[in-house]
Amino acid sequence: MLHGLCGLWEVSCDCERMTGYSETGLFFKRCAALTLPGVDATLASLTIRMRAVDLIRKKRDSGELTREEIAFLVNGYTRSEIPDYQMAAWLMAVWIRGLNRAETAALTEVMLHSGQVLNHADIPGMKVDKHSTGGVGDKTSLILAPIVAAGGLTVPMISGRGLGHTGGTLDKLEAIPGFNVNLSLAEFRHVLRECGMGLIGQTAEIAPADKKIYALRDATSTVENIGLICGSIMSKKLAEGIDALVLDVKTGSGAFMKKEEDAVRLAEVMVETGKQMGKKVVALITDMDQPLGRMAGHSNEVVESVDVLRGTGPEDLRDLSLELSAWMFFLGEKTKTVEEGRRLAEAMVGSGKALEKFRQGIRLQGGDERVVDEPRRLPQARSHAEVLSEKAGYVIATKCEQLGTALAMLGGGREKKEDKIDHAVGLEFHKRIGDRVERNEKLVTIHYNSDAKLAAAKTLISDSYAIGEHAPKEKRPLVRRILGA
Ligand code: URA
Repeated sequence: MLHGLCGLWEVSCDCERMTGYSETGLFFKRCAALTLPGVDATLASLTIRMRAVDLIRKKRDSGELTREEIAFLVNGYTRSEIPDYQMAAWLMAVWIRGLNRAETAALTEVMLHSGQVLNHADIPGMKVDKHSTGGVGDKTSLILAPIVAAGGLTVPMISGRGLGHTGGTLDKLEAIPGFNVNLSLAEFRHVLRECGMGLIGQTAEIAPADKKIYALRDATSTVENIGLICGSIMSKKLAEGIDALVLDVKTGSGAFMKKEEDAVRLAEVMVETGKQMGKKVVALITDMDQPLGRMAGHSNEVVESVDVLRGTGPEDLRDLSLELSAWMFFLGEKTKTVEEGRRLAEAMVGSGKALEKFRQGIRLQGGDERVVDEPRRLPQARSHAEVLSEKAGYVIATKCEQLGTALAMLGGGREKKEDKIDHAVGLEFHKRIGDRVERNEKLVTIHYNSDAKLAAAKTLISDSYAIGEHAPKEKRPLVRRILGA
């Protein structure tokens, strides 16, 4: 017995030729033995349009959507046939009721095919990428793309902009004067062929469904949902034409997934979805209970990335960048083990090849490569202010999201999509969890341009540090778990 919900009608039929909805939402039927409640049921054929309102209701009432129903909603919204208010209602129903694995896989696949799926078969070797779910001071993309490209793999990276309290790779790159993240696909391919790495934004051709749906999610508070995040991230990443993907799923007070078990569930779903689509995927669950590295803000993060590429820089950022690069080398079959991948990554930094690759990448994307040796060529903030500790003790925790929010308030992030970013503003973190701090000692240096929100940002930052009498007993590991290996 086949069964469908159609408008006001429950439609059922025991004829196998009745197969349900078509991609465009037409409920198709070529059969005589049809039962429609309340309708004399000896119809020879029936065509009824699928309706968004029924699918909103179905999800609201905890129903499971078919692939065709999801395709109807996503494609209809992308083509502007379904209005914002209906998509927003559906997203909220999904946020509340969730998507199961089959629905998540269908959503990802439909979003992926809403645009072009790139094919770099003309470029020899494996194509590998990394994606982070986002955090504060997370600049590893700027470091590992040149390391991995220097090691002989191709990294076709399509990145995003800052979201809420989290920074975005594209915004960081745009701190470099002239750097163009809006390459056409032909230019992107040229850069990839020339230097093995390219970092661009989502074009109109790549997963356009995500571009539109993400903006709506951002405005309707429906971002933090595992199925929706998986669809959004994996559709973009799989459209890049990659063979393998390393996911950095953040957990902690500065992550979208605050609880480790939620981060693990998201990682599992993304790994499974990627593997179902024939890709090699691993996920590292990593710490975002405090900022990564010592710097946040766009110019600041470019400077710190160059430090790591030179073989210096803060230990946590260096370790995580090398670890993610090692997995990329391993999945990209450059090395037989992850340990060997780590040694290759270290060699690319130690030999200066990774830094040279970074210069080449900047040059090819129109940027001023002199920023590598002359950081003052990056946008500079006019003023500095210090946030001091109100008491002596040990840093026992940070409200990491609040630190990101303070940076956004100073102009380093966006409240609305159209807002312009101030690349010069930034935060410099002097203390990490477990560090001793004296009364009136510096916790954070603020680099700012406008007094307007300085006082509010200072209060937020000061309130973000919990100072206790004793250092925490255990140091939380940077990489908590690895899934899919
Ligand atoms: N990053 C994305 O690209 N999409 C999400 O849904 C969340 C984070």
